[in-house]
Amino acid sequence: MLRGIKRAGLGLTGALGFNAAVRDSRWRAGRVAILCYHGVSMDDEHLWNPRYFITPAALEQRFRALRERYNVLPLGEAVRRLYERALPPRSAVITFDDGGHDFYQRAFPLLRKYELPATVYLTTYYCRHPKPVFEMFCHYLVWKGRKTYRGGSLVGNESAPDLGSEKGRTAAAAAAVGWARREGLTLEAMDALAEELAQQLGVDYAALESSRILRLMTPEEVAAIASAGIDIQLHTHRHTSPADEGGFAREIADNRRAIREMTGSHEPAAHFCYPSGEYRAELLPWLEREGILSATTCESGLAGPSDHPLLLPRVGDKDNVSQAEWEAWLDGVSEVVRPWLRRMWRETPPTEPPAAR
Ligand SMILES: [Zn+2]
Repeated sequence: MLRGIKRAGLGLTGALGFNAAVRDSRWRAGRVAILCYHGVSMDDEHLWNPRYFITPAALEQRFRALRERYNVLPLGEAVRRLYERALPPRSAVITFDDGGHDFYQRAFPLLRKYELPATVYLTTYYCRHPKPVFEMFCHYLVWKGRKTYRGGSLVGNESAPDLGSEKGRTAAAAAAVGWARREGLTLEAMDALAEELAQQLGVDYAALESSRILRLMTPEEVAAIASAGIDIQLHTHRHTSPADEGGFAREIADNRRAIREMTGSHEPAAHFCYPSGEYRAELLPWLEREGILSATTCESGLAGPSDHPLLLPRVGDKDNVSQAEWEAWLDGVSEVVRPWLRRMWRETPPTEPPAAR
């Protein structure tokens, strides 16, 4: 329902010329839209997880619009000009989290085609482990096998799960992942477990393996994109923010060293993205002591000069966002109307179950 109101509202504001007025306002000119991408589908990942993946076709539509109507800056330059209050109008930055092989295969050629700068926040540990990222892969396998699973034992599950619903699939995959964690499996043992899970589900593991789906880039691929001008920045080595400063500093140091080894860059990476978007107050002084110049979250919004540089919001983009909604975010319209929509939402109690929204 909220989505419906939003869509209708965006159509109306567009027709009234409100969108263009916001896009070309001084308010918008003082802000930058830091776009946040995760995965780009190699195959059907957007059907499995439209909140995380976008199709190459939708991504190309975004890039074309960025090229034609916005000023896309490299991340470091955008952060500097944000606080110098010297941004160009309609400014944007493109960031990709994690550094999946799909970035290399799908996004990188499009960035070159449209001559757009971009930053990859790279988590480095798995780059040297040429296998699918275990937890995500388990969830994908369970979705993939939802129609071929014939019942019977399934890794980590005490009884045959119901894979007909998203809830059932999430629980089944979480049980497999939880079992592997409790057993303290090595990476190799986790790969073997994923293969067993695929067999039990009736999914062709060898085909997925050779497609290189849900893996990170190899060091060679990272070197290739870096030499072509893609900016590689920090996302911790093991995609985690330890609770103690020593452990956290080690994650940054390992991440920095691995990036330097892969890219050959002598300039230490100084921009950070919180793994899984999870940030805590105590991380800010730790990041400052590590010489981090900016850090991005997964909170929605345009970054403005009053935002803390270590808590910069972004505009998340994925397959279930229409081009009109995306442009409304980029233009600043969503940010302007959001408080009004929220008020309206609070005053209009939901009339349908939450699952339907
Ligand atoms: Zn991440």
